[in-house]
Amino acid sequence: MNLWQNYVRPKTLSEAMDAFAHAPRPLAPIAGGTDLLLDLEQGRHSPVQTLIDVTSIAEMTALEVRGDELFIGASVPVNRIVLDPLAVPHAQALTEACNLIAGPQVRNVATLGGNVAHALPAADGTIALLALDAQAEIASLALSGADGQAQAVETERSRRAGVGTYRIPFKDLFLGPGKSSLKQGEELLVGFYIQTLKVSKTFRVSSCFKRIMRPQGVALPILNCAVWIEREKDVVKDIRIAVGPGGGTPFRAAQAEDTLRGGPLNDAIFDSALEALLTQAQFRTSARRASADYRRHIVTGLFKDVIESAWGRAG
Ligand SMILES: Cc1cc2nc3c(=O)[nH]c(=O)nc-3n(C[C@H](O)[C@H](O)[C@H](O)COP(=O)(O)OP(=O)(O)OC[C@H]3O[C@@H](n4cnc5c(N)ncnc54)[C@H](O)[C@@H]3O)c2cc1C
Repeated sequence: MNLWQNYVRPKTLSEAMDAFAHAPRPLAPIAGGTDLLLDLEQGRHSPVQTLIDVTSIAEMTALEVRGDELFIGASVPVNRIVLDPLAVPHAQALTEACNLIAGPQVRNVATLGGNVAHALPAADGTIALLALDAQAEIASLALSGADGQAQAVETERSRRAGVGTYRIPFKDLFLGPGKSSLKQGEELLVGFYIQTLKVSKTFRVSSCFKRIMRPQGVALPILNCAVWIEREKDVVKDIRIAVGPGGGTPFRAAQAEDTLRGGPLNDAIFDSALEALLTQAQFRTSARRASADYRRHIVTGLFKDVIESAWGRAG
């Protein structure tokens, strides 16, 4: 049995929106296919008539600095992010996360957009983007006419491409395990914006991502953690912490951040921050990976390790 009937490969966002408007439904975007093809084959994804391949859309394969932001297109394969000379300085946690996804063959085709759109609370790229406080750009059929012309609020760049897009804070993309806020068959992730690294004489910024994984495994981790930190001498000026899976959606440890923000980093403060994290996080038991209790147990070491690495890098 064929898993799909039509396969289209648009070259521009405008062509992609045209396919969204006119191709036989149900339809779904496909990027690397490392999640979607298995899900279709094993019945975890509802049947599709049309697959829209988003890997040849120029706007979605760009990785470049735009003003004071780094733009990473949703169709950029994660292996390219690992090696990219712009991503390493501006988004170190993300490059570290992408370098740990699966094995080399998967990393060559798996995209950052696919990692995010699947909306899993422990997806590695997702957890790094959350700590980096990314914004997501979304192309929308509702904002683009059937003739491919942008109709409403759109970015300068997307107006040029003739398509209506909008931006949302990254965390607002997630509604529940495996459930994103993207309107199925109407919206497409175009890419992600991350603030470029600020350079200052008084403070330094860095980030770090690590995960705990079964030694033999190439799949989602047992636990992962990403930290972004702004350090002014011996004070944590600002901090963002993401842990996966710490709940039904990708989790920001906001209470631990509040505990750490504005003070020095010492053992007593770290213990208070850990307590805040353990109070706020809702660790889940997953059949194939780990129990909630085990995750509560091992988070201490991972959390300390990631914070100390990020702190050291900003020193
Ligand atoms: C062996 C193996 C190991 C893995 N290990 C890991 C791991 O260690 N860590 C990890 O996080 N993940 C892992 N994964 C999961 C997967 O490879 C990644 O999540 C990958 O980044 C998905 O990207 P993709 O391009 O292949 O997505 P696809 O499979 O093409 O798509 C996934 C979903 O996203 C949708 N989609 C794709 N692009 C867009 C877009 N631009 N806009 C809107 N919707 C879109 C698709 O319709 C589909 O629903 C693993 C998978 C395999 C098979």
